[in-house]
Amino acid sequence: MNQLASLSSLAQKDIRHHLHPYTDARLHEQQGPLVIERGAGIYVYDDQGNEYIEAMSGLWSVALGFNNQRLIQAAERQLRSLPFYHLFSHKAHAPSIELAEKLIEMAPVPMSKVFFTNSGSEANDTVIKLIWYRNNALGLNQKKKFISRLNGYHGITLASASLTGLPANQRGFDVPLPGFVHVGCPHHYRHALPGETEEQFAGRLADELEQTILREGPETVAAFYAEPLMGAGGVIVPPRGYWERVQAVCRKHDVLVVVDEVICGFGRTGQMFGSQTFAIEPDVMVLSKQLSSSYQPIAALLINDSIYQPIADQSHSFGALGHGFTGGGHPVATAVALENLRIIEEQHLVEQAALMGQRLHAGLAGFSDHPLVGEVRGCGLIGAVELVADKASKAPFEAVGRLGRYLAGRTQQYGMINRNMGDALAFCPPLIVQAAEIDMILERFARALDDTE
Ligand code: PLP
Repeated sequence: MNQLASLSSLAQKDIRHHLHPYTDARLHEQQGPLVIERGAGIYVYDDQGNEYIEAMSGLWSVALGFNNQRLIQAAERQLRSLPFYHLFSHKAHAPSIELAEKLIEMAPVPMSKVFFTNSGSEANDTVIKLIWYRNNALGLNQKKKFISRLNGYHGITLASASLTGLPANQRGFDVPLPGFVHVGCPHHYRHALPGETEEQFAGRLADELEQTILREGPETVAAFYAEPLMGAGGVIVPPRGYWERVQAVCRKHDVLVVVDEVICGFGRTGQMFGSQTFAIEPDVMVLSKQLSSSYQPIAALLINDSIYQPIADQSHSFGALGHGFTGGGHPVATAVALENLRIIEEQHLVEQAALMGQRLHAGLAGFSDHPLVGEVRGCGLIGAVELVADKASKAPFEAVGRLGRYLAGRTQQYGMINRNMGDALAFCPPLIVQAAEIDMILERFARALDDTE
């Protein structure tokens, strides 16, 4: 009670009225929120005036930092000219048309059409529905199952949570729904057999995928669904050869490849798209987060002609496509996203992210010798450090996540916001981060790790 009395009145109101996502409700009643009031560059400030480096870019998303004036002006201009219009029933507006054109131009493989949603989860649900619709149109009435990976993250709506392979998103929620199947997580450090090379591990995972398709029946499997590198599942970089092998399996069995680039897209992996970094040729790409630097909620899915044409043909039987969101392709969100992409290109932020990523990874590698550090991993401007109970055997801690939470709490005390995924701590700073700021991130992490035992 005393602890509550020391909280600001805003924090107390929060406890009274808010149910927070991804938050332990009972713990929240006791400790209240960290109220963030404003942001500038890679920093955010709480309502007590404390400064934090946002080493997670918010939720892996604020590529341009927290006070980009051009994005603010783009939003204001659009709000003044057309604050809302929709895309239903043959309506359109300039920002959504231009953003669709831009995304098709940027796509690393030929894509046919863009569909806009408000969130990554909605985008993934939309992909599932459009693939079902397409397969119905083609008379492939059995071909409806989706295969995704354990530890993969695709969101939390009913269907996207069914794709997601994390226990926390399924416990207590009655998902996955039927028709969603999971295969192994491509984490060499954790799941390779003793002595298995990355290539051998990749081959074993591709075999597992093929066996799963054969067991389910290729005529029942619609698509394989994956992030280029896993983000929320722990920043897992796939082993060498993985994508080449799994794509070959998918093509052999006429299984579509859907790539969820919600975290990887727009520079995070050191190239514009994770699909380029890992040589993926997707049939569908899902984009969000850094698409607008999260200044506005928006996601997009890009589908190729093999998906678009049968869907369009269905209009002969069904007329209008019975799917769409009020806010999908919102004019303010699409105007901000367009400006965001212009800035990323003009300021060469993808190249900058690759450079800063090298500095981050060189620095993180320096922690490999620490007795608690099991693995340092990552790619481009995204990384993670995983703590283990025993370095030699890689044994995790008995209470998984306790130390990770402690470490994230310590970095916060030292003025940096990170996210722990189990006992791994993630790093995903804004693309605008400078060399001196990377050094500060490393220095704050070192202090927090020193306190951890
Ligand atoms: N897909 C991936 C790869 C994600 O990382 C996320 C969110 O973190 C989502 C989908 C879901 O996006 P949203 O939270 O906007 O629904």
